[in-house]
Amino acid sequence: MSTQTTSPTTPRRVSTRIGSIAESATLAVDAKAKALKAQGRPVIGFGAGEPDFPTPEAIVEAAVEAARQPANHRYTPAGGLPDLKQAIVAKTLRDSGYQVGADQVLVTNGGKQAVYQTFATLLDPGDEVLLPAPYWTTYPECVRLAGGVPVEVFAGPDQGYLVTVDQLEAARTERTKVLLFCSPSNPTGAVYPPEQVRAVGEWALEHGIWVVTDEIYEHLVYDDARFVSMPVEVPELADTCVVLNGVAKTYAMTGWRVGWMIGPKDVVKAATNLQSHATSNVANVSQRAAVTALTGDLSAVHAMREAFDRRRRTMVSMLNEIDGVECPTPTGAFYAYPSVEGVLGRSIRGRVPTTSAELAGIILDEVEVAVVPGEAFGPSGFLRLSYALGDDDLVEGVGRIQRLLAE
Ligand code: PMP
Repeated sequence: MSTQTTSPTTPRRVSTRIGSIAESATLAVDAKAKALKAQGRPVIGFGAGEPDFPTPEAIVEAAVEAARQPANHRYTPAGGLPDLKQAIVAKTLRDSGYQVGADQVLVTNGGKQAVYQTFATLLDPGDEVLLPAPYWTTYPECVRLAGGVPVEVFAGPDQGYLVTVDQLEAARTERTKVLLFCSPSNPTGAVYPPEQVRAVGEWALEHGIWVVTDEIYEHLVYDDARFVSMPVEVPELADTCVVLNGVAKTYAMTGWRVGWMIGPKDVVKAATNLQSHATSNVANVSQRAAVTALTGDLSAVHAMREAFDRRRRTMVSMLNEIDGVECPTPTGAFYAYPSVEGVLGRSIRGRVPTTSAELAGIILDEVEVAVVPGEAFGPSGFLRLSYALGDDDLVEGVGRIQRLLAE
């Protein structure tokens, strides 16, 4: 086993900056569940942040065809194929009404690289980023890597997991540079109503605060929730706004690794320079597949949405049947985010969890169901369950939790 040393004469084996990064808790839970499954255990995993559907056939066909063309065995421009940038411009106008130019687009290795590069490009050391909590686990790590300071603004289930302008204003300081905004939200599934998106955007504009808005779940909304894009609601914000998106959730393409960032030209140019030294272009064949996805219709996501909607209702009602669990009805993405405060402190097969992380550990050990604890997304006291899995597995998995907590 290697040990870190703080002696001034011996360099650290791993840098302080990288050594302080926490493992992605969501990927860790998913990996643990998959490993147990591979050993033949009947594990049911609610950890996954990805659709359980295959990529639509026409997209796969386009990729197979592209792989046969030697031209696609080569690098593309670091910032992405011109055709793909154009498709992103057209798709953005079609889906959210946001009008941008191709020189405002950078194609990235999944939305995740877009998050990383956006913060690396915008932040100087000490710059503060307002982070509505519960937040996606990757945001604060990317902020810290860039030398920034994540400032959590917690909105609980009592307020539908939606931060208010008053809360943001209370957290604002003269070092506040950026607000991270994610709607529909991972992990809570909350969707901001248009008037609240506008109010937040107007507040940011008034105070000269940049908005990084993550729109990756734009097509996964339910009931009467409606997705709106902040720079469309507040057009004057365009010069201080970065939109993050990708094909992963809409076209069941998580493994293809295609995302993008859209922003003011100078920011996109700087981020492209960074990417040109870090990873160059996204896999050429994946980019070709993404062109086909984005220039096609949205029938695949509509079909997925129907399945997710059905599973959402089942999951939420089953969770709410558990004494001590309270699950607001999410109206977006594919996650339920129940409070488990009422379960903590209770004895479960002789063990007494005091945190949601301990509870998640007990659930995995005792009934072989993998859930992600709230600690991955902010405060303890919550679990995140993805409903992007088969209906039967979903009922069996939540049923196991129900039975365990009823003992
Ligand atoms: N943003 C959010 C909120 C997400 O949940 C994810 C995926 N978990 C991403 C961005 C990035 O997705 P990808 O890198 O697969 O495109």
